[in-house]
Amino acid sequence: MSSRVVRMALIIVVGIRLNGLLASLGAETPGPEKTPVSLWDLAQSKQTIHRFSTLFTAQNVRDHLATEEGLAAAIAWCRQTGVTKVYLETFRSNYTAERETLQRAKDRFRSEGFEVSGCVTTTIVGKRSTGWNLISCYTDPATQGKLQQIFEYTAGLFDEIMIDDFWFTDCKCQACETARQSKRVTIGDKSFPVSGDTWEDYRCELMVRLSQDRILAAVRRVNPRVQVIIKYPQWYDNFHERGYEVVRETADFDRIWVGTETRDYNDKRWGGTVQYEAYFIMRWLGGIGGAKCGGGWYDPYGTTEYTYLEQARQTVLGGARESLLFCYGSPTRTPVQASPLQRT
Ligand SMILES: [Zn+2]
Repeated sequence: MSSRVVRMALIIVVGIRLNGLLASLGAETPGPEKTPVSLWDLAQSKQTIHRFSTLFTAQNVRDHLATEEGLAAAIAWCRQTGVTKVYLETFRSNYTAERETLQRAKDRFRSEGFEVSGCVTTTIVGKRSTGWNLISCYTDPATQGKLQQIFEYTAGLFDEIMIDDFWFTDCKCQACETARQSKRVTIGDKSFPVSGDTWEDYRCELMVRLSQDRILAAVRRVNPRVQVIIKYPQWYDNFHERGYEVVRETADFDRIWVGTETRDYNDKRWGGTVQYEAYFIMRWLGGIGGAKCGGGWYDPYGTTEYTYLEQARQTVLGGARESLLFCYGSPTRTPVQASPLQRT
């Protein structure tokens, strides 16, 4: 064959391949005879490639999932949005969702074809931190006990538990100060050495040991099948300051999740993070977690429809296999519905 013929053959083969790829991505222009595919059907058929999920916070469970009417509305919204997996939260900010409501919602979502997992947000768990008023003092033995109870309760309901990104401490109370200076972490009747005497050293050791003893060991005693996901915030270079240890905690937990909430750079409340950081942190933590890295997580706060969508793009291009849209409690702030509001 002449080189010209070879070139032509290559062009035809590449053309056929590209057409097949575009068709598989749903990029074919639908002809008038074709029935449009619903977003729910499309999301279900493609969920092994990428899945969209959402979270019902503990307060959402109470306010939206306790009645048949609320359940039906939630299922309809998820179907219309292409969400095929839901996380039902058991605890957030000193509120525990009721077992019966959680169980009924779990069964109902499953019967409608959804994947269902649990979630815990460790805000206002027990003794208040001297810092951020949502955060707790985990040096406090009673707070350690309450933490364990929350996770045991959740493991009795779900085989997978996500921990939202408040799993840290910024407390500097006298008990924390004494423990930091003594370079010892105490969990119940167990004691562990700390390598240095900085707040970062103390908090990292505290959160790693608490995770091992009061979360992972505790939930596995209740439910040997349970998998626990640690979701990291969109912090990158200051994880350690409040006790996130992305290497040791990733090794200990079953799965990890990545916060990609970069939002609008110029937003007065939420801004200051460049959008590209969502892609970067997805790749960076994805590299640390490998197969443990399940997906990314972003919300509509401090975004326009354009930057919300950019968060989605960065998350997917960064290698996430699932995008968690936080949260059902903000459905009117998702891009389509939020557009008219954001433009005013
Ligand atoms: Zn403290």
